Amino acid sequence: MRLAAAIPSKQNSLAFKMIKKDVLIVGAGLAGLSAARAIENKKTYLMAEKENRPGGLASTVKKGGFSFDYSGHLLHLRWPKTSKLILNALGGNCARIKRDARVFAHKSWTPYPFQANLSGMPDEVKAECVSGFLKAYNSGFVPGAGPEVFSRWTRRVFGGGISRHFMLPYNAKLWQYPLERLTTEWCAPFVPMPKPEEVVKGAYGGRNEGIGYNTVFHYPRSGGIGALANALAQNSEGLRLGLEVESINLKKGVANIRYFGPVSFRRLINTMPLDEFVAMAEDAPVSVRRAAAALRHNTVYVLNLGVKGLKSDMHWGYFPGAEFPFYRAGIATNFSKALAPRGCASVYIEISTSGEALDLASAETAVIKGLKACGLIRTSGQVVEKIWLKIPCAYVIFNRERAKALPVIFDWLKTRKVQSIGRYGAWKYSFMEESVKEGLEAGERLNAGW
Ligand SMILES: Cc1cc2nc3c(=O)[nH]c(=O)nc-3n(C[C@H](O)[C@H](O)[C@H](O)COP(=O)(O)OP(=O)(O)OC[C@H]3O[C@@H](n4cnc5c(N)ncnc54)[C@H](O)[C@@H]3O)c2cc1C
Repeated sequence: MRLAAAIPSKQNSLAFKMIKKDVLIVGAGLAGLSAARAIENKKTYLMAEKENRPGGLASTVKKGGFSFDYSGHLLHLRWPKTSKLILNALGGNCARIKRDARVFAHKSWTPYPFQANLSGMPDEVKAECVSGFLKAYNSGFVPGAGPEVFSRWTRRVFGGGISRHFMLPYNAKLWQYPLERLTTEWCAPFVPMPKPEEVVKGAYGGRNEGIGYNTVFHYPRSGGIGALANALAQNSEGLRLGLEVESINLKKGVANIRYFGPVSFRRLINTMPLDEFVAMAEDAPVSVRRAAAALRHNTVYVLNLGVKGLKSDMHWGYFPGAEFPFYRAGIATNFSKALAPRGCASVYIEISTSGEALDLASAETAVIKGLKACGLIRTSGQVVEKIWLKIPCAYVIFNRERAKALPVIFDWLKTRKVQSIGRYGAWKYSFMEESVKEGLEAGERLNAGW
């Protein structure tokens, strides 16, 4: 991987000779890196990455002996080809781990998923949740074929109790978008749906294990999740770090790269956020610009803490309660001890906003109070290191506007032979393996002459 030499200003960029490549890849996150691997040796390409490291969201930063990810980034492997690629890239540097996730509600912990493990909840909450679920189920439970609004869907599928005590408050905190307008296309793989007997058993009998998409996950033994991106970036001939694509003309096949100059390309693979990509495309028609301007996302602030004397085996916990500013907190050293000096834990706390700036100082105070309230720490003196990481575009919002906008944008991109892939290029709720898969497929399509 190469860091581009800091050179001329934008004004001088036209003085640069036009660089010609078969393919321009915008962004070296997992989607871009995987696309590059697929086309390596078949075509010339330039992969422009604006940061000084590859990996995008799947990166790891180091501070004071700790390694911190952009919140928990765990590998949920489900497809043979991509699993093999990821595990091979990591070599032996990968552990397979059984999930220990929990929910903190009504001042106590209960195992995740809440709807299938109500055992830790007070009796009256259990009763409300179980009876509400069974009522919903018996009145003709259908998970739903097409999208509907989340607030109605959750009551219809899980009933009033589970919705009131977990689904509604947790998702309101996570999405920072009205749940009466959030639509449900993302729910199927991510929201576990237990059977009635599992709900009853989870409340009054034993624990339900193995429910949900992430019951077992993989994670690098050392180096954090950034170890995967670094491995995929090895020998990537066309990767250039520190290069930001700032405008593009898809009809002409020319991109302007900040302080670097124009690059001409025959095909383009985009992995940067779709709304920003369209906004910088000079030849985008008004209808496409309007569609892109209608897309919405939230912003997540991750407070990473180095903590000494933390005693919990949990991997991560969900916090539906309004008394906690964060929706999720996790202990990264419980999936890799190498992330912190001996005797210390690496902890991540996720706070979502609808885009407004977070007051970091008061958020920190509220986080410490929350960590004490749930028993993860006893005193603020245990915190020995901290770093805030911001994810400006974190969860894309699913709403009616998105459903209308995407076909308009993708129909136009198809006419320009652009593949826009990955979590933000495709504007969806997806996970790392999916970005790897889409990258490989995009590269293979180009190899096949697309
Ligand atoms: C809070 C949170 C937690 C998550 N946890 C998990 C998890 O546990 N497991 C999991 O599998 N997935 C998780 N994900 C999802 C995962 O992060 C993504 O699916 C995956 O990393 C996306 O990779 P990508 O390459 O598609 O996009 P990105 O990682 O966003 O890569 C895009 C790249 O484009 C670059 N770029 C942007 N603009 C420009 C420009 N103009 N010029 C040049 N470069 C540019 C960016 O710097 C970035 O490197 C999580 C996501 C979030 C937000």
